[in-house]
Amino acid sequence: MAEFVVLGAGMVGVSSALALQAHGHSVTIIDRTQAGCETSYGNAGIIQMEAVQPYALPRDLLTLCKYALEISNDVTWRMDGALQMLPALWSYFRHSSPAKHAQISQYYSRLIRSSTADHAGLIRDSQAEHLISRDGLAILLRDQKEFDKTAKKADFLLNEYGVTSRILDGGRYQKEEPALKKTPAGVVHFTQSWSCASPGDLTRAYFDLFVSRGGKFVSGDANTLQQSASGWQVHTDEGELSAEQAVIALGPWSPEVLKRFGYRIPMVYKRGYHGHYDAPQRLKRPFLDVANGVLAAPMTKGLRVTTGAALVPHNSPVDTKQLERGAKALNEIIDVGERVAEPQWVGTRPCMPDMLPLVGEAPNHKGLWFHFGHGHQGFTLGPTTSALLMDMMNGECSELISALSPELRLS
Ligand SMILES: Cc1cc2nc3c(=O)[nH]c(=O)nc-3n(C[C@H](O)[C@H](O)[C@H](O)COP(=O)(O)OP(=O)(O)OC[C@H]3O[C@@H](n4cnc5c(N)ncnc54)[C@H](O)[C@@H]3O)c2cc1C
Repeated sequence: MAEFVVLGAGMVGVSSALALQAHGHSVTIIDRTQAGCETSYGNAGIIQMEAVQPYALPRDLLTLCKYALEISNDVTWRMDGALQMLPALWSYFRHSSPAKHAQISQYYSRLIRSSTADHAGLIRDSQAEHLISRDGLAILLRDQKEFDKTAKKADFLLNEYGVTSRILDGGRYQKEEPALKKTPAGVVHFTQSWSCASPGDLTRAYFDLFVSRGGKFVSGDANTLQQSASGWQVHTDEGELSAEQAVIALGPWSPEVLKRFGYRIPMVYKRGYHGHYDAPQRLKRPFLDVANGVLAAPMTKGLRVTTGAALVPHNSPVDTKQLERGAKALNEIIDVGERVAEPQWVGTRPCMPDMLPLVGEAPNHKGLWFHFGHGHQGFTLGPTTSALLMDMMNGECSELISALSPELRLS
């Protein structure tokens, strides 16, 4: 019998499994597909040291109207999606007040600040160095007023959280980034963030490291999880698998699986898309085109363009208008090239309304651990919150541990 079964082989599940293994436990990962095939595959690949404040829901009327009318490309929505998520959205709205957001950011920034250090050892041990660039993330502003605002925010992030950046006028940045064919108003270059040329491959490299250290993987469906006399049991392709303890790391699918155990977990499901393009000139570093709500990142498959949030029901059909609008607008400033032919990728950011991942033991089930809800930064935070999960399992207490605790947040 394994001591631990980890359900979910995304960045969060694989990082949990590696952390458990490092603490001497025998671990089996279960997933219905392969490692790093879902959200941890299709994201923008940034290890986001600049993201010390989680994304709050804007509360000013003008931005909300822009979202409601889909004037901005940042957010699209459907009435049925918004209605399904209404309690979670309302809670998100309440947690986004300036005072609450500032308090949440104090915890969030502590997680973010360890992220590159927590990835570094895994990158080295999994021999994934070739996938990583340590050249930061550029925030590109087309409008002078927006540039001034972002530069001011960068100043605040430096003073408050030690986030370093370079503030460059458009002409200067264009000299550094020859792929730019038009001069933007300016760029804020966050220098501590890293980027990954293939997030799915990095997750798989970590997974291979786990296997090389004696870890086991079995295909199976997390929906068959049951409590048993000796702990937990899951039906897998290799029969019933038992473990003393189970970790739920199923990203956006976690709340659905936990319904059977009586947990009603509010989540804001922010869908995103990506497409690859055969841009003739490789970007020096990824950039966010703020005016159009898309991020362009040089990846192994070409230029990956990722979109903002679509608030739609979990299984609603693909609607690529955000991606198409974004790629068209990007083409004004860089040569995007032709779209690479491949099935349309769609994934969902698993966002908790209070913007913090849910990490810790289930309130009503001993030996069942929650580890999900990493929202916009799960690729960044997988190894960091895994280390905290170990602290929790070892009975440690801290203010940060309490802030992530399911027991305190779901009551
Ligand atoms: C467009 C986009 C861009 C993003 N960009 C970034 C970024 O630049 N940086 C960053 O840090 N984050 C980014 N994110 C967020 C990040 O991708 C997620 O937070 C992170 O991947 C979540 O990881 P996870 O391991 O929790 O979930 P996942 O990677 O989704 O893993 C969950 C696993 O559970 C498995 N599973 C689900 N249901 C079952 C079941 N019933 N039985 C068995 N297995 C099951 C799935 O197969 C999957 O392997 C982005 C997200 C999107 C959508």
